[in-house]
Amino acid sequence: MSCECTTLKVLKVEADVGADPLWCKTCGCNLECSEFKLSTSLAKELREWAELYGKWIDWNTDTLIPNGIEMEDDHNEAGIRLAEKLKREVFGSYTVTLIPSSMARMYANKK
Ligand SMILES: [Zn+2]
Repeated sequence: MSCECTTLKVLKVEADVGADPLWCKTCGCNLECSEFKLSTSLAKELREWAELYGKWIDWNTDTLIPNGIEMEDDHNEAGIRLAEKLKREVFGSYTVTLIPSSMARMYANKK
């Protein structure tokens, strides 16, 4: 376990570029899906979900793409569903909290 908290209790689900979307809420360290006994399908869905993160930003021009806000909303909704699944799979061991992305709104306000 990469997290060194003696009592890891709260898992934070938050997508980030190039990382598994699970974090320790206490110390903020990144956790690997493989550190938990998750079903193969959920681990795969979590990774795919994380890979889609930020698709609403054009990194070449560092701007929000058209429909970027809607794309982020969809991503956040998918995140809620995944967090619910995760909650059921780790029930009794951990609690789960989802941090929705607000990056698109940040970019929208930048102009
Ligand atoms: Zn920790």
